[in-house]
Amino acid sequence: MSPANPKHILAAPAWPYANGPRHIGHVSGFAIPSDMFSRYQRMAGNKVLMVSGTDEHGTPITVQADKEGISPREVADRYNEVIATDLANLGISYDLFTRTTTRNHYAVTQEIFSTLLRNGYIFPKATLGAISPSTGRTLPDRYIEGTCPICGYPSARGDQCDNCGNQLDPTDLINPRSRINGETPLFVEQEHYFLDLPAFTEVLGAWLQSKSGQWRPNVLKFSLNLLDDLRPRAITRDLDWGVPVPLDGWRDRPDKKIYVWFDAVIGYLSASIEWARRSGDPDAWRAWWNDPSAESYYFMGKDNITFHAEIWPAMLLGYAGRGSKGGTPGPFGILNLPTEVVSSEYLTMEGRKFSSSRQVVIYVRDFLDRYDVDALRYYVAVAGPENQDTDFTWSEFVRRNNDELVATWGNLVNRAVSFAARNIGSIPGPGELTAADHALLETSRQAFDSVGEHLSRSRFKFAINEAMHAVAEANKYFSEQAPWKLRESDPARMRTILHVALQAVDDAKTMLTPFLPRSSQAVYEMLGGTGSWSGLPRIETVDEEGGPSYPVITGSYDSSFRWATRPIAAGTPLAVPVPLFAKLDQSVVDEEIARLAGNE
Ligand SMILES: [Zn+2]
Repeated sequence: MSPANPKHILAAPAWPYANGPRHIGHVSGFAIPSDMFSRYQRMAGNKVLMVSGTDEHGTPITVQADKEGISPREVADRYNEVIATDLANLGISYDLFTRTTTRNHYAVTQEIFSTLLRNGYIFPKATLGAISPSTGRTLPDRYIEGTCPICGYPSARGDQCDNCGNQLDPTDLINPRSRINGETPLFVEQEHYFLDLPAFTEVLGAWLQSKSGQWRPNVLKFSLNLLDDLRPRAITRDLDWGVPVPLDGWRDRPDKKIYVWFDAVIGYLSASIEWARRSGDPDAWRAWWNDPSAESYYFMGKDNITFHAEIWPAMLLGYAGRGSKGGTPGPFGILNLPTEVVSSEYLTMEGRKFSSSRQVVIYVRDFLDRYDVDALRYYVAVAGPENQDTDFTWSEFVRRNNDELVATWGNLVNRAVSFAARNIGSIPGPGELTAADHALLETSRQAFDSVGEHLSRSRFKFAINEAMHAVAEANKYFSEQAPWKLRESDPARMRTILHVALQAVDDAKTMLTPFLPRSSQAVYEMLGGTGSWSGLPRIETVDEEGGPSYPVITGSYDSSFRWATRPIAAGTPLAVPVPLFAKLDQSVVDEEIARLAGNE
């Protein structure tokens, strides 16, 4: 069943920062929700483009490079590869997962900057910049250290405080000093460029108000509150690692770059353009960005709402000439604003904040080395931080894996397919259906509507609970109908029961595909399917003409399989299946908690 008018849907998960591996708290906020949503939308017949990449500029990467005595590019290369591998192993169906250090991204960022400047939404302003009194040279922000004026942390950097996370200017620091030689920097007037956010107060307000009732209430409330205090924001920085400022006298300066947050949000557009070029139709991205009927969904943790609900929309509005200063669109045309900013709350771990520095953490790679990817995806769907801060505990992970994946869904698949394989060897045809048979099939049919409706609105918890309810009904049916008692007395009725149960298994497999793509593929094959049911991503190495090569995630995810029941075919051979999920021993909890304690 394909909708008459398939929609173009952009799925835009946040850009992970390439200064280290990502932990499960991160991916539960952007990658997994975006993938569940996108997989559903494709099955509903819509045209999905999911793009993102690693965010690779900014101070933390240069600080780490300094520490290791290597270049920022080498740090970015290392973690781009680590993060891309993790996300591919999670089964995240990116059409393109790229990075912000591509030539394409630089060119798109500079075009957005230039048009915003031409339309009057970027302006230069004299501001105080630091120089070293002994050398007279610009002192980059990261080389200035001092006490945070907000939290009192004694080693805050000139661009942000790592303790409280607030963005700072070097002049905000109390007792600023050079990290190179300890001298007190001299602040002199320098020119920087600012994004004129107050020019968008009115148009952003009207746009956000129009989202009432559609967005998650926390996200909308937070976004509306931001409007009370819109101030111009510096978008160039004293930095040597970033996108060059596309202006005469600035372009070649090694010490002035575009600030990382300004270029990172442009990644959604530049990655769409890169995807189109790689697909062979350089204008293909426009169907997702210029057509006003296209929709776009941005997935992130709540610390990123400001950038997606305020700053990026302001940049898009300014580019189109739709702020208070007017203007005309640049060559990319009028670009769509987000349809929804789908922000998650925080995941904590055993009652504490995830912290890489304090090692309160489990990285994606370590998790997947020890446990099934679908067990993690299931946990995020059913118990993730969708609407409130949520604690990940190992005991709850083990409980849900054992009681829900193994004992409910895995058990249904195993008992129905095993019994049919052992007693018949193929999918049996049905005889006349009873009221109980009709009731189960109707439960399945209705679940497609309700699970689909929840998924289309990123209500993952409701969606998976509805799908698991259909699984529980099928388990109950199988127990009540007890086909094993009919082997001798009524084999025809036994075959009908098995047909109905296997149809319910097939339906549940379809409904669980957005959440559990790996195991759904396995169930598809158990029931005689061949080829790819739920496309999984792959990593390819690409380059730009003459530039260095880099890995990207891509894949083919569109198929003819739709969000609807598919009648199973009588006579399809069945083999006795292997268990879908592994039961976890309670000792897992003790081992993982000991590991956490040992890290500290
Ligand atoms: Zn602070």
